[in-house]
Amino acid sequence: MTETDTAARLRWVIGNWKQNKLRFEARELADAVAAGLMNAIAANPSSVNVGIAPTFLSLDLAVRHAPPGGALWLFAQNVAAQESGAFTGEVGPTMLLDAGVNGAIIGHSERRGHFRETDHDVARKLQAALAAGVQTVLCIGEPLEIRESATHESYVISQLSTAFSNVSHEHINERLVIAYEPIWAIGTGKVATPTEASAMHRSIRAWMGERFGSTGAGRSILYGGSVKPANAAGLLAAGDIDGFLVGGASLDAASFLDIVRTAAGG
Ligand code: PEP
Repeated sequence: MTETDTAARLRWVIGNWKQNKLRFEARELADAVAAGLMNAIAANPSSVNVGIAPTFLSLDLAVRHAPPGGALWLFAQNVAAQESGAFTGEVGPTMLLDAGVNGAIIGHSERRGHFRETDHDVARKLQAALAAGVQTVLCIGEPLEIRESATHESYVISQLSTAFSNVSHEHINERLVIAYEPIWAIGTGKVATPTEASAMHRSIRAWMGERFGSTGAGRSILYGGSVKPANAAGLLAAGDIDGFLVGGASLDAASFLDIVRTAAGG
């Protein structure tokens, strides 16, 4: 697979609901996404995987009411680096799988920023999640001052290099997805240009290829940061962007499904 052989990689669109929605609201939103899903991916059903990440308290509802056949992937917004033990407030990777949850988002910038998760914490979580067989979305991305100082590429590569420091080749497979999310674009309405995003995706892919060979280079790399129905097509057209991690727009089923439809080529 070449670096830009986008067509060969699976697309993903994943909604990160963050700390939003009471259980009845989460049920309504998950039902609305499920109801429109088949229509949204009709143009190319096997080309895109679609997921949602409700709060821990709503994940069980989403599991119980998920559409048949695993058509909607369910993600936790965080996962512990430990499987079990005296770690108050934490949920381990195997606990997610045991509850019927498919995967977890790891290293979101809000966890790094608000909860002081370091690159090393992220590395331990990534290693544990991949070893447990959890579908993993690893988030990386630079703050505004790093972008303005034009050191964003080395910053992101350093995040990657620490995150994968303890991950062995055997755990690099389709269970791993990377999400490039420039922090200055998250929840700000300020989206990276297609050129900015795809340039970073190419750097990430090149690094993954050097570290893990073609299996590493072949991982899906998503963009996240103020993705909306109006900008999704332009980002995908830039190449090397294999879908989206969507925050704000995923809280509205119609907007989220519009983005899914675009990713499916509809
Ligand atoms: C996110 O939280 O991962 C995100 C990309 O948020 P938003 O789409 O709202 O910028």
